[in-house]
Amino acid sequence: MPTFRAPRGTRDLLPADRAPFTRLERIARDLALRYGYHEMETPLFEQGAVFERGIGEATDVVEKELFRVAPSRGEERERWALRPEATAGICRAYVEHGMQTWPQPVRLTLTGPMFRYDRPQAGRYRQFWQWDVEAIGDPGPAVDAELVVLGARFYREAGLDDVEVLLNSIGDATCRPAYVAELAAYFRRHEAALPDVERARLATSPLRLLDSKEPAMAALVAAAPKITDRLCEACAAHFAAVRDHLDALGIPYRIEPALVRGLDYYTRTAFEFYRHGAEGQQQALGGGGRYDGLVELLGGKPTPGIGFALGLDRVVLALEAAGADAAPVGTPIAVVVGADPADTAGRLAVATRLRDAGLAVGADLSARRLGRQLEAAVRDGARFAVILGDELGDGAVQLRDLDAAAQKLVLVDDLVALLRRKSAG
Ligand code: AMP
Repeated sequence: MPTFRAPRGTRDLLPADRAPFTRLERIARDLALRYGYHEMETPLFEQGAVFERGIGEATDVVEKELFRVAPSRGEERERWALRPEATAGICRAYVEHGMQTWPQPVRLTLTGPMFRYDRPQAGRYRQFWQWDVEAIGDPGPAVDAELVVLGARFYREAGLDDVEVLLNSIGDATCRPAYVAELAAYFRRHEAALPDVERARLATSPLRLLDSKEPAMAALVAAAPKITDRLCEACAAHFAAVRDHLDALGIPYRIEPALVRGLDYYTRTAFEFYRHGAEGQQQALGGGGRYDGLVELLGGKPTPGIGFALGLDRVVLALEAAGADAAPVGTPIAVVVGADPADTAGRLAVATRLRDAGLAVGADLSARRLGRQLEAAVRDGARFAVILGDELGDGAVQLRDLDAAAQKLVLVDDLVALLRRKSAG
């Protein structure tokens, strides 16, 4: 048993585990760029109030899952928390840096770890990775469709082609309060049938009962009043226009009136991505929605916004389950080894010259004998070994093809061009 282990709900991503994340991050970055979203970063921790206010005090994410952090000295009274999601921090930054004076909408994206103090289980970690995309300052509906398309496209490019879009509108301050009251009355009529946890939630957030994962709730939720039938005229028109835009693009989606998302700040458009057949389990691959009240809640001028967060860990798990080829872990084209174990300076010098030329090259800096160095080069997956020996005096080395176990004399001056050709081929 090792003395120390990574905390429960977290894990080390060893190189083979990191590689698929790197691949997904590249796809996300490339897509974001193509769609005109600009990368930014926010701190991994914020004043807790950013999340309390931005996400909502009565949400699971804030009430139960927020990771509070206390500094060991100095600003002890700061109540910080690790970010459980990116939207609230990005909107805080939008207000703080006066982005409302920039051309609107401001299209932003970030990729990074999020933290939630949840019960760890399959696909649910205390530290996990999200790709987050936000368009702030556009009331939609076209930009709503743009984001749904961007999310769906990410899954396709990642290699998951059975991902479905679930779509809903959850109204706004005009129509939602009456709907929530009607929903609360409906659930109160069925209070006896509610599981304890849902009965407790009924008082604070009746909407969230629609999101319940309790099997006993399925029939009740199916028969509950539907927000889609009770949208005010403006919300109904917005929802219809979002669908028109998606239809015009030929993007399939399914309307899911019980889709409310777990965070308080959503208005109108809400959507989630699921693998076909996995809906209703705790396995959303990603989700997003419109948050027209959030910027104002965080102290800015009323500003509409919409965004999504896609969980990368779950995409990696889904790709593994689908038997997708593992992402390649970078291997060197060559490793520089030497007949004189003590001459680490010589090996480092040649390797540095090759690395300066942009080649991925290892250097054996151990004091082992040549045979052992060559074995290690093979284990590293290198295609060639650059062997330094007596020929170095004449500016030459042996270049050994490790697969063919054949070698030839090559001038150091010719090595770069030769290895470049081999890298390309
Ligand atoms: P949410 O903000 O809760 O809708 O989360 C957006 C996405 O992040 C989800 O659809 C998941 O893919 C992912 N996600 C959320 N919480 C976790 C977690 N604890 N562990 C792994 N992935 C998560």
